[in-house]
Amino acid sequence: MRDVVVVGAGIVGLATAKALQDRDLAVTVVEKEPEVGTHQTGHNSGVLHSGLYYRPGSLKARLCVDGRRRMIEFCTDHDIPVDVSGKVVVAIRDSELPLLDELERRGRENGLAGLRRLDQSGLAEVEPHAVGLAALHVPEAGVVDFSLVARRLAAVLQAGGAEILTGRAVVRIRPGPGDVRVDTTAGPVTARAVVNCAGLHADRVARSAGVDPPVRIVPFRGDYYRLEPGADHLVRALIYPVPDPRFPFLGVHFTRRIDGTVEVGPNAVLAFGREHYRGTAPHLGDVADVFRYPGFWRIVRRYWRTGAAEMWRSASRHTYAAAARSLVPAVRARDLQRAGSGVRAQAVTPDGSLVDDFVVVETDGAVHVLNAPSPAATASLAIGDHVADLVTRRI
Ligand SMILES: Cc1cc2nc3c(=O)[nH]c(=O)nc-3n(C[C@H](O)[C@H](O)[C@H](O)COP(=O)(O)OP(=O)(O)OC[C@H]3O[C@@H](n4cnc5c(N)ncnc54)[C@H](O)[C@@H]3O)c2cc1C
Repeated sequence: MRDVVVVGAGIVGLATAKALQDRDLAVTVVEKEPEVGTHQTGHNSGVLHSGLYYRPGSLKARLCVDGRRRMIEFCTDHDIPVDVSGKVVVAIRDSELPLLDELERRGRENGLAGLRRLDQSGLAEVEPHAVGLAALHVPEAGVVDFSLVARRLAAVLQAGGAEILTGRAVVRIRPGPGDVRVDTTAGPVTARAVVNCAGLHADRVARSAGVDPPVRIVPFRGDYYRLEPGADHLVRALIYPVPDPRFPFLGVHFTRRIDGTVEVGPNAVLAFGREHYRGTAPHLGDVADVFRYPGFWRIVRRYWRTGAAEMWRSASRHTYAAAARSLVPAVRARDLQRAGSGVRAQAVTPDGSLVDDFVVVETDGAVHVLNAPSPAATASLAIGDHVADLVTRRI
């Protein structure tokens, strides 16, 4: 019998497995895909978030700040390139200035170093092609390749004796008196405890364990464009808008990735399937599941105008370019080429609230990570430690 089975080999599952292994526990990770890190972990912006946006005292604020520091240490120890390039958050309208003040206040309370308010000429020194009324410079933000981090975590785990069983899905979890049986498509694995890090499927895996999760995962896709090489000089590092405080998404932004390419996006539209990437077929079962959830219809009633505009922007390169131009006016529609997409696992409550903070639920013999959207890749090593502490208290 193993000590702990971790469901899901995304960056959160792998980081949790590593934290458990560091506590001398025998760990098995079960992953339905043939490789590790293929869903959210392999389809994101690769931004090392600083902890600017999150409510002071929240799990997101604490684990992001700690996780960022630890991610940089891990990457340094394992020769993974990291660029702490800094970012600017740019206010383009008067109405955004109080929101920028609030971000600055949160950032200071969360302990971020070097935050600096910029006027237009200060902004031009940091990002010569960006325009705005005012900006916040956040020097601790940066970029990394989280897929590479996930692969390296898997190698470290295996070298330390952990099992990573890929290509088999967990179909049911049966907690017993003293152990937990995890049924997979390739037979059962038994352990003293189980951790559910199944990302886009975390609520379903929780239900398979007999838990009634307090939230439902609603998948929100983000589509990216890439700046043509001739236009990528327009962005030095990371340029963000002031986010709409009603949503946990950051708005279409510019990211100079660790490989040097510049991406624009992601937006946020309802995905027609939990793994419905751009160019793949919708999943009717997943769509029906979302449509049956009362929380989804409450979101639609409240935000249908924003949702429709985002869908339109997703379909039209010209509209996407217009959003990009509000931050960097020299961007033209022909500078944008379609790039990848990612699907966010966003937890929604039955009353239609998009859950902002990370959600971790403990039950007999199991810990379920039910909401780990951005910045969970940045925070993964700290989330792993947090979850491992909960598990070790139980076994
Ligand atoms: C578009 C986008 C942009 C983002 N940008 C950033 C960013 O810049 N910075 C940042 O910090 N975060 C970012 N994030 C968030 C970040 O990518 C996620 O928070 C993080 O990757 C979550 O990791 P995870 O391990 O929980 O999920 P995942 O990476 O999705 O892993 C879950 C794993 O569980 C497996 N699984 C599911 N069901 C089963 C089952 N039944 N049996 C076995 N295995 C199963 C899946 O196959 C998958 O491999 C972004 C996310 C998206 C989508």
